[in-house]
Amino acid sequence: MINIAIDGPAGAGKSSVAKLAAKELGFIYIDTGALYRAVGVAVLRKGLKTDCREDVLSVLPDIKLGIVFVDGEQRVMLNGEDVSRDIRLPEASMAASNVSAIPEVREFLLEMQKKFARENNCLMDGRDIGTVILPHARPKIFLTASPEVRADRRYKELMEKGTPKDYNELLEEIKLRDYNDSHRAVAPLKPADDAYILDSSDMPIDEVVAKIVSLAKEAM
Ligand code: C5P
Repeated sequence: MINIAIDGPAGAGKSSVAKLAAKELGFIYIDTGALYRAVGVAVLRKGLKTDCREDVLSVLPDIKLGIVFVDGEQRVMLNGEDVSRDIRLPEASMAASNVSAIPEVREFLLEMQKKFARENNCLMDGRDIGTVILPHARPKIFLTASPEVRADRRYKELMEKGTPKDYNELLEEIKLRDYNDSHRAVAPLKPADDAYILDSSDMPIDEVVAKIVSLAKEAM
């Protein structure tokens, strides 16, 4: 199977470009952040704290996660319920970032991600795909953009959705998530040694997609 890894910080546009590139290549697109979000949502739903290790570990044994595809779109199932909407609620972002720093949570999600990659030609996005989950992936892309550009994209996205949020608040949240993601002890966010660094700050989305598709074709 052919596996392509796309890692990078929150808001770099990974999911938008990965979706388009996967479509062009005829591959399945797997958004691994959705799994951490689902774990975060499971903890929040119990009224527990996502930044408390004991709380998170107490919920973990009761979590059964599944990924299904509906019209080519990934849906995440939590104990049989489709939680694809809830995992996009604003509180799910920090919840995911918190639970993702716990080694047992990463271990819990590891095999599921590897299995998908073994069974499908896929383009997988996350934070540790090239470094931990799929070290054999080719190509490995590290997609980034400045925090200001990422906050601005998120600001516009939320405006369009009719759920605006303050730009400075978004910028602070992005910086905090960057810090948490890149300073945790296990699988911190960092480019793999053999990753291609793609800075999308000044690149239109179609150019980013074209670059990824061309890197993928070169590697095949
Ligand atoms: O990509 P997304 O923003 O949905 O991910 C939510 C959070 O899940 C990230 O901030 C990160 O902390 C965590 N994550 C991770 N490893 C991955 C994917 C996501 O730690 N492979």
